[in-house]
Amino acid sequence: MSESPLLSIQDFSLEFNTFDGVYQAIADVNIDLAKGESLGIVGETGCGKSVTAKSILKLVPSPPGRVRAGRILFNGEDLVQASEERMRAIRGLDIAMIFQDPMTFLNPVFTVGNQLVDVIMAHQRFLPQRESRSRREARDYAIEMLRKVHLPNPETQFHNYPHQLSGGMRQRVLIAMALSGRPQILIADEPTTALDVTIQAQILDLIGELMKDLGLSVILITHDLGVVALLCNRVVVMYSGQVVEDASVKALFDNPAHPYTQGLLAAVPHPGRSSGVLSGIPGQLPNLLDPPKGCRFQARCSKAMAACGEMAPLKRIGKDQSVACWLYGEDGHA
Ligand code: SF4
Repeated sequence: MSESPLLSIQDFSLEFNTFDGVYQAIADVNIDLAKGESLGIVGETGCGKSVTAKSILKLVPSPPGRVRAGRILFNGEDLVQASEERMRAIRGLDIAMIFQDPMTFLNPVFTVGNQLVDVIMAHQRFLPQRESRSRREARDYAIEMLRKVHLPNPETQFHNYPHQLSGGMRQRVLIAMALSGRPQILIADEPTTALDVTIQAQILDLIGELMKDLGLSVILITHDLGVVALLCNRVVVMYSGQVVEDASVKALFDNPAHPYTQGLLAAVPHPGRSSGVLSGIPGQLPNLLDPPKGCRFQARCSKAMAACGEMAPLKRIGKDQSVACWLYGEDGHA
């Protein structure tokens, strides 16, 4: 990556205080996002991908959450140190987020148009005077945004309540809301998981189209490698709160290096493959109240060795690929 990244998560660790002890949710995570890049963060439930994404926007409640170490630089500004007032200006106008279940994030007692206009008006106080809108102008802009996300009959839908829209339409409304502040980065946390397969494809197409049209950089949180292959140019694999592999999508699919990544890919169903049994990854995620010393994957790894008692650093093994595993030597070869 030649120019400095738009967003850079550096040596970031976050923990939660619980009644049972300190839960070490994220440990020493390093992730960069370049301008215009589409980055997938993948891993199984509990690997820390959503918490990492929420940490960017300071959406992890504190307490019980606590940043133990690290920085999150956006255009060089450390968001970990930013005040709540500063974060209010950044949320939506610089970095926006959409979530898994659109119904949860829409208020059932207000029309979608009302909610969209409220979001647009809430951005006003952070905009220069010349860019501010009246409520009437905000209404026109809201309908323009609904049209941009291909919501059918936007003028009519504007007056509808969330329960009158399908799941896919509600997700389009949330995308319109997220993009109404013209952010530079869109974080999409499992944006299609709650939708059926045909609608999933439409929403992914829409995100891809908006990325090109608006020059958006995207972080896509997903457990679905098929979604990553469709939409992303780079992918970070997380396991148990740590980054274990960072690669271009092509490098990762052609040559998955970390045993965990290999397990994830082997578990993806392939239509037409004759064998009816999918391989899984035996074992469970370690207890992060008392994580193992060294590689957190070692209890599930068939290639574990004595060296794995220490955590392997993320090592570059190719032009577009880095991996944290002792199977790879200083020269990057296994
Ligand atoms: Fe397996 Fe060791 Fe590599 Fe961890 S560091 S994935 S235990 S070989």
